[in-house]
Amino acid sequence: MSESNITEISVPLEVDVAIVGAGIGGLAAAVALRQVGITAHVYERTKALQAIGGAVVIREPSVRLFEQWGVADRFYAEAVQLQGIDVRDSEGTPIGTIAADLTGEGNAYSVHRADVHALLLSGVDQQCVHLGMTSVEAFEDGDRGVVRFADGRQVRAKVVIGADGIKSVVRKSIDNDALIFSKLVVLRGLAPSAAMPEDMPNDRLYSWEKDSRQMLLLPLRGGNEVAMDTIMVRDTPPQDLWTSEVPTSELLDYFQGFDPDMIKLIEAGTVPVRANPVYEREPIAIWSTAHITLLGDAAHPMAPRAGQGANQAIQDAGALARALSGDGMTNIPDALRRYHEERAPLTKKMQLASRSSPAIKPLPVGK
Ligand SMILES: Cc1cc2nc3c(=O)[nH]c(=O)nc-3n(C[C@H](O)[C@H](O)[C@H](O)COP(=O)(O)OP(=O)(O)OC[C@H]3O[C@@H](n4cnc5c(N)ncnc54)[C@H](O)[C@@H]3O)c2cc1C
Repeated sequence: MSESNITEISVPLEVDVAIVGAGIGGLAAAVALRQVGITAHVYERTKALQAIGGAVVIREPSVRLFEQWGVADRFYAEAVQLQGIDVRDSEGTPIGTIAADLTGEGNAYSVHRADVHALLLSGVDQQCVHLGMTSVEAFEDGDRGVVRFADGRQVRAKVVIGADGIKSVVRKSIDNDALIFSKLVVLRGLAPSAAMPEDMPNDRLYSWEKDSRQMLLLPLRGGNEVAMDTIMVRDTPPQDLWTSEVPTSELLDYFQGFDPDMIKLIEAGTVPVRANPVYEREPIAIWSTAHITLLGDAAHPMAPRAGQGANQAIQDAGALARALSGDGMTNIPDALRRYHEERAPLTKKMQLASRSSPAIKPLPVGK
């Protein structure tokens, strides 16, 4: 997450909208709601927002929302519009190029997750972001949703939005389904683009592959940095979702025999390589109760295969703000139902199309 100067003054415990989780989806929801005149308070487990993570691909429909929300300038300053997907063999010989617009949605951009996080944070009233608050339970109580935190405090809200990611606590108030470890782990590193081979302009996604080994390179920060993503199979997940470090030597061993230029790039890494487990869930039929709803990974986690996790969280935020705008806050159960009806069919398809675990059931034919 991004560095910030948020200082805690007092934590409001009775609010209109309480968002649990200040990740991409939670902050996008706060920005989108602010645009339609609704103040949302965001409660985040992390004590300090830090710039960790790697590349996310952001697609045109999400960028259009950034424009509506007044945060697109910061996006364009950091993001790199992908000029294509270049596939190379293990010796670095080009095999072919694919258009970057895999989804038919228009332009695709590569950007550091922390930069997206920072631009969304800039669109939120800083006094509405409350750090160091780990939610442990959410429940309905009369005409309010209630979130209970680890320190015993409780927040009551007309709307509770669970944007607390793949291991969502808020989701448990709606469905107690199982989290599935896909046995895939993404190793994420970062290098300066100056360390890239001369014949590889840093304006596209590269896939360097042999058999099951694959290194993905994605341009970041106006093309000055390059993200290095590798997916490995492991029997057990790393302990932490986003912060577990692995020695660079593990990546070097894995790519033994590949193009020496790739080895040099790995050696030029500027940050610790982190191992992020890929978890998945089955789609659930309902995301909302009367005053509690879900958004982003809490609602429909997606394996990174299609690069849609951040996009769908951002687009959920746009849809939820539209549903709650106007007189939406006067009939909240109805607004949450409309939000679910708009978003669930599409995100279910994407969730299943991105699946990587055999434990996730395929879509029935024709759906
Ligand atoms: C630190 C971090 C780094 C990431 N790096 C990458 C990356 O490099 N590439 C990539 O493709 N995806 C990455 N992701 C995941 C990606 O951001 C999401 O899959 C996607 O953007 C959907 O966003 P989300 O808001 O639903 O979930 P997330 O962005 O994961 O946000 C969830 C938020 O909820 C908070 N939270 C969790 N549990 C609680 C709780 N009990 N109480 C309060 N708050 C809670 C988390 O700390 C987090 O801030 C990262 C996520 C995080 C948190």
